[in-house]
Amino acid sequence: MKYDIAVIGGGASGMMAAGRAGELGANVVLLEKNSKLGIKLLATGGGRANITNLSDKRELAASFGKSGAWLLSGLSKFGPEELIEFLNSRGLKTKIEDSGRVFPKSNSAQDVLRTLLDYLDSSGVDIKLGAEVKKIVKVGDNIQKIILADGREVTANKFIICTGGKSYPLTGSTGDAYKWLKQLGHEIIPPRPALVPIILKDKFVRDLEGLSLDDTKINCYQNNKKLCLARGSIMFTGNGLSGPAVLNLSEVIGRVDPKGLELRLDFLPELSADELYHKFQLEFSSSNKMYKNALTELVPPKLVDTIINLSGVDPHKKLNLVSRAERKALVGLLKEFSLTIFGLAGYDRAMVTAGGVSLKEVDGRTMRSKIVSNLYLAGEILDLNGPTGGYNLQLCWTSGYLAGESEAS
Ligand SMILES: Cc1cc2nc3c(=O)[nH]c(=O)nc-3n(C[C@H](O)[C@H](O)[C@H](O)COP(=O)(O)OP(=O)(O)OC[C@H]3O[C@@H](n4cnc5c(N)ncnc54)[C@H](O)[C@@H]3O)c2cc1C
Repeated sequence: MKYDIAVIGGGASGMMAAGRAGELGANVVLLEKNSKLGIKLLATGGGRANITNLSDKRELAASFGKSGAWLLSGLSKFGPEELIEFLNSRGLKTKIEDSGRVFPKSNSAQDVLRTLLDYLDSSGVDIKLGAEVKKIVKVGDNIQKIILADGREVTANKFIICTGGKSYPLTGSTGDAYKWLKQLGHEIIPPRPALVPIILKDKFVRDLEGLSLDDTKINCYQNNKKLCLARGSIMFTGNGLSGPAVLNLSEVIGRVDPKGLELRLDFLPELSADELYHKFQLEFSSSNKMYKNALTELVPPKLVDTIINLSGVDPHKKLNLVSRAERKALVGLLKEFSLTIFGLAGYDRAMVTAGGVSLKEVDGRTMRSKIVSNLYLAGEILDLNGPTGGYNLQLCWTSGYLAGESEAS
């Protein structure tokens, strides 16, 4: 059967593209190699789906870095407000949490998926599951057909590639489209894991596994030169660090050679080093309390033993016997806790893939390829990625909606 439009990939961007094209009257097929649609979507936001970020459109675009301006016209057409209206009008209530993060009111990614499945159904999209695309056949200037792994062929007038990146490959995102797109003449900016935990060399982090801290300032240095910083919540893993502040730093860290990279954590960002030192000077001199007990009042219990070991001070020492040098060293540990970076975790733990189809070759108003005229691209396959906070899904909704819309026109 020949379709008006074939959409490859049934993730957030593919479902939005197919639904919109069908809604506008096109005869659409959605090809997904998994046995279900939206597997990655269900894992987003810890199962709660942080669907977008309700911020000013310019700020939102800027969150994607220098390339963010490319998305601005798309966001004006289908940005966070339009997405929320789209979902609300289809019965999915939403709520706004801190920093503009938007979630379904039910805290359930499953409800977001259900809304999209209803959309596909009401738009009359022909959904083919277990349909793995193996080859794209171009004849002359245009794509003519798709060949599936089982040999079936799908012919269409227009094609939308929404196969995502390479992160969390068990969800189906295995980077299949990079090679097709290269063959079609597109430039692929080398993919790399982003929003990914940092692996540390320091063995003692094993003892800190599971420790979460709500407000930590992290400075990253390369050979003692400041590279980047972030502030927010962090979590120690068995071999490193994760949590939103760390994931956001990983984008910059992934761009440089990991040699000579060091993190310095500030566990008490509300106080300057001088203020902390004077606080200790004042409180320690007249106190009979044990060193260990004083630390328990400053940092979570799980961190106390590590700080004691690294400071080398007897945990039972009375505070009024702690020397000036020991007080200074303690300030150093609390304000500049040094960790040595080994590298970043891989695609299996990366929330997104940086790199992908060069934006220079895609029209940001329509998502149409500038290389192949009946090809459109949407979602994480594009060379655009944002921080945590709902930005990456918004990229999928915006680009998917536009690709679906212009397809049908
Ligand atoms: C654990 C986790 C949590 C996240 N949480 C958030 C969050 O809360 N908020 C946020 O904004 N972002 C979040 N993200 C990022 C966000 O999920 C992704 O950016 C987004 O889902 C990408 O959607 P996509 O449609 O581009 O690609 P994908 O969701 O990767 O979908 C691509 C689809 O294409 C299919 N496919 C691939 N190759 C083929 C082929 N050859 N033939 C047929 N089908 C194929 C795949 O099976 C897959 O279903 C999270 C990511 C992860 C991993």
